[in-house]
Amino acid sequence: MRYIDKFQVSAGQLLGAKQIASPNFNQRPEDTEIQLIVVHNISLPPSQFGGGYIEQFFQNQLDWDVHPYFKSIEGMQVSAHILILRTGEIIQFVNFNDRAWHAGRSSYLGQKECNDYSIGIELEGSDDQDFEDQQYQALVEVVKVLQQAYPKTQGHLAGHSDIAPQRKTDPGPHFDWQYFREQLHAKKQTSE
Ligand SMILES: [Zn+2]
Repeated sequence: MRYIDKFQVSAGQLLGAKQIASPNFNQRPEDTEIQLIVVHNISLPPSQFGGGYIEQFFQNQLDWDVHPYFKSIEGMQVSAHILILRTGEIIQFVNFNDRAWHAGRSSYLGQKECNDYSIGIELEGSDDQDFEDQQYQALVEVVKVLQQAYPKTQGHLAGHSDIAPQRKTDPGPHFDWQYFREQLHAKKQTSE
């Protein structure tokens, strides 16, 4: 039986994923090819899950008065292309052809401004808790189709902490890179 992907990339959209538009994006610089996938974690408030606050934050609709922590991020305009919730649900906020605002000051293999040429994937999580298996499985599905759609990203997967080591710690010590790479490899084998 031929394996059929759950998701497909078409015109910068991840078909099969929920779409929520974020206003926090701009154009990639001209002639920039997508050549890196960056993995992050985020939770709002920190280390608490659910509630829909990340989705509101990426849409500039977060009510800063709901939690004291939110005051510290008031007015910040950020986004990621993809958010993977604890349930494994995948939400796309920014078209892959556009430049999402996830990496900040950053550098990968000597090339600065990773937002220009990367795709940002946020996992709902924190530096102090394990991720859910559904999140690894969803990430595998997404990365697999992204690597097909944007072949230059092959072999170029980084954590936020790898590209901004002075400022960032995510996806954190609980993100199991080895397990993720094994799952990704296995998924690619079954679909060949
Ligand atoms: Zn990050």
